[in-house]
Amino acid sequence: TQWVYNFGGGTAEGNTTMKNLLGGKGANLAEMASLGLPVPPGFTMTTEVCTTYYDNGEVYPDGLDDDVAKGIAHIETLTGKAFGDPKNPLLVSVRSGARASMPGMMDTVLNLGLNDDTAEGLAKLSGDRRFALDSYRRFITMYSDVVMGVHHHTFEDILDEYKDNQGLMLDTDITPDGWAEIIGLYKDAVRDALGRDFPQDPREQLQGAIDAVFGSWMNDRAVVYRRLNDIPAAWGTAVNVQAMVFGNMGDTSATGVAFTRDPSTGENTYYGEFLINAQGEDVVAGIRTPQTLTKVARENMGDNEPSMEEAMPEVYGQLAATFAKLESHYRDMQDIEFTVEQGKLWMLQTRTGKRTARAALKIAVDMAEAGQITKSEALMRIEPLSLDQLLHPTLDADAPRDLIAMGLPASPGAAIGEVVFDSDKAELRAKAGHKVILVRTETSPEDIHGMHAAEAIVTARGGMTSHAAVVARGMGRPCVSGAGSIRIDEAAGQMSITGRIVKEGDIVTVDGATGQVFAGEVDMVQPELSGDFSKVMAWADELRTMSIRTNAETPLDVQTARDFGAEGIGLCRTEHMFFEADRLGYFREMILAQDKAGREAALAKILPVQRADFAAIFRIMADETKSLPCTIRLLDPPLHEFLPHSEDDIRKVAETIGVPASEMMARSRELAESNPMLGHRGCRLGISYPEIYEMQARAIFEAQIEVENETGVMPIAEVMIPLVSSAKELEILKKAIEGVAEDIASKGVAPEYIIGTMIELPRAALRAGDIAHHAEFFSFGTNDLTQTTFGLSRDDAGRFLPDYVAQGIVEKDPFVTLDQDGVGDLIQIAVERGKATRPDIKLGICGEHGGDPASIVFCHNAGLNYVSCSPYRVPIARLSAAQAAI
Ligand code: ADP
Ligand code: MG
Ligand code: MG
Repeated sequence: TQWVYNFGGGTAEGNTTMKNLLGGKGANLAEMASLGLPVPPGFTMTTEVCTTYYDNGEVYPDGLDDDVAKGIAHIETLTGKAFGDPKNPLLVSVRSGARASMPGMMDTVLNLGLNDDTAEGLAKLSGDRRFALDSYRRFITMYSDVVMGVHHHTFEDILDEYKDNQGLMLDTDITPDGWAEIIGLYKDAVRDALGRDFPQDPREQLQGAIDAVFGSWMNDRAVVYRRLNDIPAAWGTAVNVQAMVFGNMGDTSATGVAFTRDPSTGENTYYGEFLINAQGEDVVAGIRTPQTLTKVARENMGDNEPSMEEAMPEVYGQLAATFAKLESHYRDMQDIEFTVEQGKLWMLQTRTGKRTARAALKIAVDMAEAGQITKSEALMRIEPLSLDQLLHPTLDADAPRDLIAMGLPASPGAAIGEVVFDSDKAELRAKAGHKVILVRTETSPEDIHGMHAAEAIVTARGGMTSHAAVVARGMGRPCVSGAGSIRIDEAAGQMSITGRIVKEGDIVTVDGATGQVFAGEVDMVQPELSGDFSKVMAWADELRTMSIRTNAETPLDVQTARDFGAEGIGLCRTEHMFFEADRLGYFREMILAQDKAGREAALAKILPVQRADFAAIFRIMADETKSLPCTIRLLDPPLHEFLPHSEDDIRKVAETIGVPASEMMARSRELAESNPMLGHRGCRLGISYPEIYEMQARAIFEAQIEVENETGVMPIAEVMIPLVSSAKELEILKKAIEGVAEDIASKGVAPEYIIGTMIELPRAALRAGDIAHHAEFFSFGTNDLTQTTFGLSRDDAGRFLPDYVAQGIVEKDPFVTLDQDGVGDLIQIAVERGKATRPDIKLGICGEHGGDPASIVFCHNAGLNYVSCSPYRVPIARLSAAQAAI
């Protein structure tokens, strides 16, 4: 096994494709060296050294010492210096570098190889004692801190005290003799802290630093970071040992960082900072204010200090040429570290630069239009979920803020408003023109109107797929769920958050993208959907093969989704239409009716209302030439959900609909179920009370004809029966619906419709072959299918799912990302069996997973015709579907 890979002098043993073995930093140092760029020579110890070390009980592989010695010899040859030689000392940096950049790992040690002798040697050789001793004191500080565990404050305190005593302001005011004295104090401090001397032997120093990098792979910070970011421990880290170049050799030397394009706007201009007479870590440490790279940037900032372009025009020219070379080589925006040593440029790092969603769009579009990358590549470079950032207002990054509570980032966007604890009140205040934030312990279907009226929703309990989260995402409302520190005292009209009191009416700002709640008003910036956005969407539409629909029922949501490019409705939940005050009354009357005649009388009152709802949706989904398909699901939830529950409510409702309260209470008890989600719901209601589904079908068909009369285009209805588990259920209900259609057709115009079913029970997936005899389409209801496949209640899973994720039993929350192994298998079985019966059966998904990029890729591969998601997810789904097809 080759444990060590050399680079430098215009060649390298590694290259950029070897990131797994050499880490990101090592692979790209090798690549830059091979490109002929000025890279200080060095070598990379592979990630396999790290993994072997841990596999063998923290013992290095045989022969590693020799390989390291050869690596040092390679650097010595190329630099003409010798490690530990006081007359001409070689100094190196020791840099960690995993596959993915990983904060929490050991920091880099610079200037390794210095000791009392080599420091004096460096002084003579450079003719600059200040520089040599400055490097030595930096080395003692860094090495002691990161390798030996003596906190760097120890050294900073000594330095500050020295400067105070001498009446000096700046580090650069310290004389060489002053540094020598400080170095003595530093060494004393190390001895005091550890009871041993600072190591003087460069080889011992090197081994110590290498041990520290490999050791840091398993330190707590790194372990936590890996867990949070799904990085396997088995990747290991590489170690890079590289000849030092010095940015601290006076005013012709400097160090800096740069992006080849602006990482926040994507603008095609160089972006970066540099410091004269400094070493790498000074730029980030913020000890001195860095200067700009370009003249334009300096002018824009009104900065007085010259830019690099002005201060060092020649080196700047080389740097700019290097940027161009790197960008055209890597074909992407690069994030770069460089150092200038006495007028000579050295490259120390390059990697693909992190960027905002906005910049990602702009860079992808610019590079594709310039012919640097293909459209497919451009699309692959945009993280679909990041588009969310562009669709919602966001907090101004620079605005001051006062954080009061943290929860889950359940639905993105930011909003400001007054706190309200009750949905009715939220609606009232909103009607009176106030902006409100609905804060609840948790929400239920009875809060829909309050959620609609609110600018944002905050809950104390519940996860990413709680009622609040799902509904808020659907509505495009920002939502923070599960903010556990919030205690609501509705009676007192206030909440307390770890001792802080927020009263009803107090202003708060909610950031659904981060899960944060702030006291008062935080400044916001409105989204601007740029031309780049529509270009990317248009390219995605060219490439994708699945169509994208939306889950929506209110005209506002339907319109929003259409504006975002939805090509139909995949799920219109009719029960949501019943929660508005006046309708709920009729509906309750229907539920409470003692017999079929009573139910039909109540249903007759609901019919025109539903018809109007459907007509409104059809109008939005139709234009002069065509109509987009609308899948309408017939009544799904258990009736019990529509009944009033508190005694007070029951009395009120009983009064309005004119039945005795006792009767209502009795009926409510009768309807109660111990497991309503597995109970009398979905098509089971249709079987017991066919008149409900018949009324809904009539409302749909009559609405179609109404809209056709207006527009001349017949809307396309797809009538969907929920919770089917056997072919027989569907057969019976289908016949009833066809009966309604025939009745309507006999009076003149025939509606255009198909009938299909949801596949949301394991039995339905298994019996899909039979069911397809009666279904013209299947829509996978993956929320319920996940729930019933796992036997896991979506509303309660939040209590223990985190344990399951932590212990690796499930990889991700299966309600967020489809469980491809189990639920996915059922989907595949249903697709196969459904198609065997009916080859042209239409297939779609309407669960929350329809808006999740990874699940969308699965749907594409499973051969679905469309995915349906909440309105604000439509652009994400368009891009994800394109990525799946590329
Ligand atoms: P990080 O991953 O934290 O950026 P790096 O290994 O990239 O750590 O190094 C930290 C700083 O030290 C960077 O500014 C880098 O450019 C600088 N540096 C690293 N190696 C050398 C070297 N051989 N000569 C000069 N500066 C170096
Ligand atoms: Mg770096
Ligand atoms: Mg369902």
